[in-house]
Amino acid sequence: MDTNNRNIVTRFAPSPTGFMHIGGVRTALFAYLWARKNRGTFILRIEDTDKEREVAGSIEHIQESLRWLGLEWDFGPDKPGTFGSCIQSERLPTYLEFAHRLIEKGLAYPDPYSSEQVAEFRKQAEAEKRPFLFRNHRPEAFEKWDSTKPLRFKVPEIKRYRWHDAVRGDLEAGEEALDDFILIKSDGYPTYNFAHIIDDFSMGVTHIMRADEFISSTPRFLSLYEALGIAPPVFVTLPPILRDDRTKKLGKRDGAKDILDYRAEGYLPEAMANFLALTGWNPGTEQEIFTMDDLIAAFDIAKIQKAGAAFNEEKLLWANREHIKNLSHESLLRILAEFGAKSSRVAEKKWDLSEEFLSKIAPIVVERLSVFGEFTAMLDAGEFDYFLEEPTVDASKIVWKEEGPEKARDALLRVSEILEKISESNWNSEAVKEAIWPYAEERGRGGVLWPMRYSLSGKDKSPDPFTIAGVLGREETLKRLKVAAENL
Ligand code: GLU
Repeated sequence: MDTNNRNIVTRFAPSPTGFMHIGGVRTALFAYLWARKNRGTFILRIEDTDKEREVAGSIEHIQESLRWLGLEWDFGPDKPGTFGSCIQSERLPTYLEFAHRLIEKGLAYPDPYSSEQVAEFRKQAEAEKRPFLFRNHRPEAFEKWDSTKPLRFKVPEIKRYRWHDAVRGDLEAGEEALDDFILIKSDGYPTYNFAHIIDDFSMGVTHIMRADEFISSTPRFLSLYEALGIAPPVFVTLPPILRDDRTKKLGKRDGAKDILDYRAEGYLPEAMANFLALTGWNPGTEQEIFTMDDLIAAFDIAKIQKAGAAFNEEKLLWANREHIKNLSHESLLRILAEFGAKSSRVAEKKWDLSEEFLSKIAPIVVERLSVFGEFTAMLDAGEFDYFLEEPTVDASKIVWKEEGPEKARDALLRVSEILEKISESNWNSEAVKEAIWPYAEERGRGGVLWPMRYSLSGKDKSPDPFTIAGVLGREETLKRLKVAAENL
């Protein structure tokens, strides 16, 4: 990827709080697509300035999630740029430098109050039913900042702000949206409000993709951009992800899982990326199935929707099935082996899910599954036992309807006779079908196919007998038919 072209720079800036939800991943995907589409740069920046909310291991979790989806970054926690680290806690001197610039301009001051005093101001405002604004309590003269107190921004001008959002269009907010917010906390870490502006500037970010909860703070950001003499990047506010019934934002209770839970359940990353791309963006064509390259080619900020996008799990399952169909045979076998190995039954019985075996059952499995975890469940439920070991066959059940055991035995013996003529090397389910079909038609299908299928599987429900015979192979098929006929 061409990282020399710095025209377009996007970033994904998660806080390491331990959970990578669908919404966050969708933001990362859109930022990634826009960067790649423009041969620009995609940055993964870790916003770890709130040490209380931080969860150990999150940075690895975030990286693993993005890598799983194929969203490789040009700069990130493991790849610093000329601008330095991509981890905010490693950039404290940069924030201080900008803080001092503001202090020199008279645009930042130490907060002289204790947190109790500020709480008191807030209570007072609430009692008087007016919004609490710190700037109403701004001290007359500023003390020298010794970094034990929070450093606050002095909003230079109280005015109405108008701005453009690439998705939401023209927006505006009045004076009540402006306040003397905290730039640097008393613990020495910057606030999000301050740090992200400095970082986006230092990293050359051109487009900010983020959730709509930041719209209300945008006037504050704009006042700070102005104070610093920085031109703001393009704001791209992504639509919220709603519950399928659209009544509210998707929350954990509505099935908003961590992205790696989807991996564990057996969703394909390409299906997940496809699905997330269409959650809030549409190509304006009928196309619904996209590879990552297709998405990069088709993606356009202009087609991101304003309105909330419903999270439709059915659609995700559908996309997964479609992407499963597009998998190469090798990838399919690799994934089946991975999910097969998770079956406790396979482990218990020490069954060998050989490549040859998986290759044979793959068509049967794929037809029935939406996510690969279902393959593990099928194995656990014993659904494919008869492929892996001889089934227990209940002789009375081999008989078709009212026909009686005599007829069932005749049918099985005749089937064996016919199948014996197929050589080992010509054996496959089509050859078996072709050989048996005329006899089944002539004799009556049920009376032939039921005993055959039941003798091979020992199950009331299973794939058709030709498919089973194809998987079992010549020797095992003939053996099972013979044993069944003898037991009748
Ligand atoms: N760290 C912020 C969050 O996790 C990022 C917001 C942004 O993208 O600017 O919500």
